[in-house]
Amino acid sequence: MTGSSGGSRRPLVIYLIAVVGPTLIVLTFGLVASRRQDEAAAALRLTTARLQEERIADDVVSGLKASAAEVLADPSFRNLASLLSSPDPAAVDAGRALVPEIRSRYPVVRDVFVIADNRVRYPRVTPPLPHPLEDWLGEEPDGRGIRLSALFARAQAAESAGRFDSSVRDYQRAAALAKSRKVQALALAAVARAKARSGDSSGAIDVLEVIATGYTDTYTLNERPQAVVAVMEIARLGGAHRKSDIVAAVVSALLEGRWSVTPEQCAHFMETLARDVRAERCAIGTPAFVQVLATAFRLPVSLEAHEVGTMVLGPAPNPQQVFYAAGPFPGTVAGITANLDWVRLHVLPTAAARIAPEREVRVGPASSERTPFQGVIPFWGVSVTAGRAQAERRYLPVLAYALGAGMVVTVLMLGVVLLARDVARETRLNRLRADLVGGVSHDLKTPLSVIRVYAETVEKTDGMPAPDRRWFASGIVQETERLRRVIDDVIDFSRIQQGERSYRLSPGSLVAPVRAATDRFKAYADLHNFAVETVIPAGLPAVRRDPAAVEQAVLNLLDNALKYSGESKRATLRLYADGQMVAVVVEDEGIGISNAEQVRVFDRFQRGTDPAQGGYGLGLYLVRHIMQAHGGTVDVQSAPGVGSAFRLRFPVMAVDHENAETIVDRG
Ligand code: ADP
Repeated sequence: MTGSSGGSRRPLVIYLIAVVGPTLIVLTFGLVASRRQDEAAAALRLTTARLQEERIADDVVSGLKASAAEVLADPSFRNLASLLSSPDPAAVDAGRALVPEIRSRYPVVRDVFVIADNRVRYPRVTPPLPHPLEDWLGEEPDGRGIRLSALFARAQAAESAGRFDSSVRDYQRAAALAKSRKVQALALAAVARAKARSGDSSGAIDVLEVIATGYTDTYTLNERPQAVVAVMEIARLGGAHRKSDIVAAVVSALLEGRWSVTPEQCAHFMETLARDVRAERCAIGTPAFVQVLATAFRLPVSLEAHEVGTMVLGPAPNPQQVFYAAGPFPGTVAGITANLDWVRLHVLPTAAARIAPEREVRVGPASSERTPFQGVIPFWGVSVTAGRAQAERRYLPVLAYALGAGMVVTVLMLGVVLLARDVARETRLNRLRADLVGGVSHDLKTPLSVIRVYAETVEKTDGMPAPDRRWFASGIVQETERLRRVIDDVIDFSRIQQGERSYRLSPGSLVAPVRAATDRFKAYADLHNFAVETVIPAGLPAVRRDPAAVEQAVLNLLDNALKYSGESKRATLRLYADGQMVAVVVEDEGIGISNAEQVRVFDRFQRGTDPAQGGYGLGLYLVRHIMQAHGGTVDVQSAPGVGSAFRLRFPVMAVDHENAETIVDRG
């Protein structure tokens, strides 16, 4: 037995060696290969990203250079540059007014600058020296200069002496006498100052208002816009609230670039006048930049006519990229600082969308992780990383592989389980077959030895009385009968296995075949002192049955009742109608069957746990087969030590088919 079960385990071993092992090896190789591939892909992605970064940087750089060159070559820019480099303040004013226009036409422009004779002309870094008053008075026509000079001197003396009234009068006279507006404004500003010093703030403010509204084109001797100085004075005297519309008008004019002021002045004015307006918004750019421009800008030795120069000005965190070209006059240079916000928010995204779509492109301060820009904006670097969608897509193949591998392993394991189950079943069947042979031999040998003993007894006993001789003869007949039943069972089983067992069903009563079985069994039972009580009521409905098969089934049940009767030597056979069924019950008071075994007793080769009982596990299997052929059932009710009741149930026949005969094949 061990040998046979070891043999049937061989398919499982073969399956493990031939299928499971290689598949797992292949899967492992696949995993390794896919990891290698992943690494290679990652390296490739990195290289691609680097290349893309370089291309984007190139693109941005050349775009920026081209835009800057375009501005510098534009005639309107050159016109602007010549205005801004003019010594005439009015011309500078006109140029300044054009700066916002250039800026809106060319978003690359942040600031404009002009350098002449190695000095920053625009934006101005240092205020010029104050003009001497005498220069301005000397320009007055008709010799007024001398009279004005005397008036100013007298007024100043009075003012210093604290005689403000007379000082105010003299300044007023000067204002009336002066021809040029800038001298008028000077005199009026002095009037206001003297009034304020005399304590007449409200009078002073009225005069300042006149300056702020009527003398917006004039500057002080220090080249500060008179209007701005006036509103600052109004604010100082506490009149800003009362004259808020005038203050607001001047502030907005200042922000629009109405006046030529230095960055420091601008910052100072803004600080004083509108603390909520940031000085950077002054049209001329940040003071810091101008400072840098003045100290760090170095003209190249020579600059060709249409050459565009570029350099980085200023330290971190706010370096500036500067582009410049030869200005409109010999020795002048005009240039712009690049609007880096525009580069970051416009030029870069355009290049990124074209070169590395679906990827995340960022610029930041130059570092080892970013590819630096070459030539211009070297303080920036660009980095390209996988966008989110792309990163997700990268994990898809891994996921698919994992799923596939998981499925393959599951199928393999399923194979192992199924095969193991099959092997177990095969092993059990092999054992059962071996048992069958043993059981059948036992069931053949027992009657044979009885027959032999009886026959020898008759042979050797001379003058045996007739009743004895009959008893032995009948015993021989009964044992032969039993032999036949065993052989019938085995033959039937063999037919069933071949699919050749057929039943001949005909309508009729169950009584005749049941009686035939009990009659055939009686002599054998008598021989074993076994009593079978039979209860058969009259008027049972007809069923469709194969009489020989029914007889065989009942005989098998009676045989078992006797075989497993234990001490009790009796059984009952009852027939009764049960609704749409007719039942045959064989009930004994024998050893009984445990619940666990009850579910299995009808399986082939299935035998009780006690091998001493003999048998070969086919009787009940055949009974069930017969009952299935009849469209009926067999069941058992049993308790160990109490007894068993096997019940056959045949369906009652429909009336109109009573005469039909059917042949049922039960393979
Ligand atoms: P066999 O009797 O040849 O072993 P059967 O198919 O007739 O085979 O019965 C299967 C098993 O069912 C028996 O081995 C026995 O353990 C149990 N069995 C059948 N009939 C009875 C019964 N009347 N009382 C107790 N056990 C029974």
